[in-house]
Amino acid sequence: MSQPEQPTAAANFIRHLIRDDIAADKNGGRVGTRFPPEPNGYPHIGHAKSICLNFGTAKEFNGKCNLRFDDTNPEKESDEFVKAIAEDVRWLGFEWDAQYFASDYFEQLFGFAMALIKDGFAFVDDQSADEIRAQRGSLTEPGKDSPFRNRSVKENVDLFTAMRAGEFEDGSKVLRLKIDMASPNITLRDPVIYRIRRVDHHRTGDAWCIYPMYDFTHCISDAIEAITHSLCTLEFADHRPLYDWVLDHIDIECHPQQIEFARLALEYTVVSKRKLAALVKSGAVDGWDDPRMPTLRGMRRRGFSPASIRLFCERIGVTRKDSWIEMGVLEDCIRGDLNENAPRRMSVLDPIKVVIQNYPEGQREQLTMPNHPQREELGDREISFSRELYIERDDFAEVPPPKYKRLALGGEVRLRGSYVIRCDEVVKDESGEVVELLCTADMATLGVKPEGRKVKGVVHWVDATTAVDAEVRLYDRLFSNPNPNSVEDFTTALNAESLIIMRKAKCEASLASATSEDVFQFERMGYFCCDTDSTQNRLVFNRTVTLRDTWSS
Ligand code: ATP
Ligand code: MG
Repeated sequence: MSQPEQPTAAANFIRHLIRDDIAADKNGGRVGTRFPPEPNGYPHIGHAKSICLNFGTAKEFNGKCNLRFDDTNPEKESDEFVKAIAEDVRWLGFEWDAQYFASDYFEQLFGFAMALIKDGFAFVDDQSADEIRAQRGSLTEPGKDSPFRNRSVKENVDLFTAMRAGEFEDGSKVLRLKIDMASPNITLRDPVIYRIRRVDHHRTGDAWCIYPMYDFTHCISDAIEAITHSLCTLEFADHRPLYDWVLDHIDIECHPQQIEFARLALEYTVVSKRKLAALVKSGAVDGWDDPRMPTLRGMRRRGFSPASIRLFCERIGVTRKDSWIEMGVLEDCIRGDLNENAPRRMSVLDPIKVVIQNYPEGQREQLTMPNHPQREELGDREISFSRELYIERDDFAEVPPPKYKRLALGGEVRLRGSYVIRCDEVVKDESGEVVELLCTADMATLGVKPEGRKVKGVVHWVDATTAVDAEVRLYDRLFSNPNPNSVEDFTTALNAESLIIMRKAKCEASLASATSEDVFQFERMGYFCCDTDSTQNRLVFNRTVTLRDTWSS
């Protein structure tokens, strides 16, 4: 048995507990965890928390972590989701020791169910789901025994065998554990462990017409894989006695310890595959990888790096108390990463033409700009300057408000890395909209301060003669309510302005070679990522995050 290294990561109660288990030589000092998704959707940021916890814990203690697909609900599961989950786990930076499917265990699970019947711990119930529900009782009232509860072992064996053989209609019978209808814990009131469903399974096809329930499947799957610490979210705390009951009543050696932790809840979004699937289906978003989605696919397309998501999971920690995490916490993780790593570029999202009247037509010069202000090793690039340029429409005001630092009629501003210009005249179209700014450059100001004048503002710009066109997508929170789950129909809480498309953006020429997932800081405008929709002729960028936290204001 190898001793774990002294953990460097932040403390959490699960790490403490496992360290104590190892010290006490529990499980021979071995640690085994698993990430057990149901393949019914794409992983989201909540799953990232569980992935980082399960894989991270195993790694920290030299243990093993399995990827196990919990595929017992064939209606909603598919191979598409299996592949996506596996890919996303890898993208996030983790590798499983083994990959399993709960459906691999269908035969064994059937055997355990049969053994429970023979030991008098399970019975076939002919009642409908509604009838069974009506007898469950409540928190204050005990449930009622099923009239079929005392069937003989022989009858139960025959009926369960016939259930498997397909002799009964869907929903006409179930197999239930025989525990205690008066238990104060409702999950122990003779829970259903098998139902009849004639649905093709993504792996077993039509081999089975009965499927085991989650509570029965999960604990046994954990035990078969010799998991030591079965980490799950708090809503399963009430199910823990059932988890233990099943393992105590079947013939299996391993008995993993279930440990619950709080789910991640993130403001202004939803982390539920069911709800995310509904958004995809209704067309409210453009697929599972829409950059507004809290899915790993969406976040990846938006420009989040795996490291930034792992950092987020580390920062939020693992506790037993439900809490809401602000979006700003997540954004800070990617902002720090991109501030350090994203090369700087200039792009004008909402352009207005500037004509430098004293600059000769047809002339062009190359200026050198650093790719990163602090990281010399990232090198320089050349950007062209000529008579016609673009600046941001917002960076000009005909009548400037007090303390205005950008370009105003009659005022001066520095073009970043270039000359100081003065705006002499404004050209408008018939509707009165400003279409062009006629300016003069002070040719003595390249890289030097202008003599005797104060020029406060610096604006970004792009040479019109070499600019490349782009579409730039600006994202905001997906919902306008911090807790969309609190609204009766969560789709009514969608933010109508979660996507603003700038179709006429102009980018510096060096961006022409950008390919999808390349990240940049567009000076003064935020961090951007080249989108998968980009083609040779049309660049598309997603704004990953603004330069500063605009949420907390
Ligand atoms: P969803 O409602 O989105 O389908 P789920 O819990 O049903 O969530 P599973 O596929 O069963 O999804 O989840 C796989 C693992 O991820 C489980 O161990 C589950 O507890 C964990 N998980 C899911 N959502 C979160 C979350 N928001 N925070 C932390 N862990 C989560
Ligand atoms: Mg689920």
